[in-house]
Amino acid sequence: QSFGFDNVEDGHKQQKVDAVFHHVAKRYDIMNDFMSAGIHRTWKQAMVAQLNPPKRGHWQSLDVAGGTGDIAFKIVEASGRNVHTTVLDINGSMLEVGRERANKNGLIDNLDFVEANAEELPFEDNTFDAYTIAFGIRNVPDINKALREARRVLKRGGRFMCLEFSEVDVPLLEQFYETWSFKVIPPVGKLVTGDAQPYQYLVESIRKFPNQKDFAAMIEMAGFERVTYRNYTGGIAALHSGWKL
Ligand code: SAM
Repeated sequence: QSFGFDNVEDGHKQQKVDAVFHHVAKRYDIMNDFMSAGIHRTWKQAMVAQLNPPKRGHWQSLDVAGGTGDIAFKIVEASGRNVHTTVLDINGSMLEVGRERANKNGLIDNLDFVEANAEELPFEDNTFDAYTIAFGIRNVPDINKALREARRVLKRGGRFMCLEFSEVDVPLLEQFYETWSFKVIPPVGKLVTGDAQPYQYLVESIRKFPNQKDFAAMIEMAGFERVTYRNYTGGIAALHSGWKL
């Protein structure tokens, strides 16, 4: 199943994605607040609460497409600074912002930053207790490959969690969301940064991403078990979970 992602364009897609995030890295956090009216913070908080990282014992997680570090910071904080998290991203500019933030908020000792591709993780099999990815997987050209890699690096009993934009299932909200995404975000993005194209790309990539059920099926196909999902804000975002058993 290709779900609209044409493998022939894979190389091209990653280049486009990289250009977008190099371009927006320094403004990424502000842009996130603006694009989601701050709601992304609540979704991320809910994701980490669901993961419930332990306050004692050795435990390490991997946050893929971790960008400027939001999820990893929340995981470390929720564990009372007990756990270790690796922030992995293909984009050095995003990681640089993440590293600066980690230094400022004093979480750096519990983190490390790795520049690499979600499709080819530079880790041994069975390394991590948890794998998280937030608003990242839709940017990866070969999603199935990334899912297989996620399973490979997880230990048995390890948990996969993915937060991603999804299909809105409330009609009125859907109308508002369409207007917001296509008519408000790109022009305002242009006003703020002088360039509408990255925002246009982001909005379009959300539309192309498989809906909740199709994505759950992909996660199962990669070998995960007990796959479930829950919607946030009427399905604007969804949290998928699966286990390597
Ligand atoms: N997880 C962060 C958050 O929720 O704020 C950042 C999400 S940002 C929308 C998407 C991130 O995915 C970018 O930092 C981008 O560089 C990264 N990314 C895109 N393609 C990737 C790939 N193939 N492997 C790893 N990271 C990738």
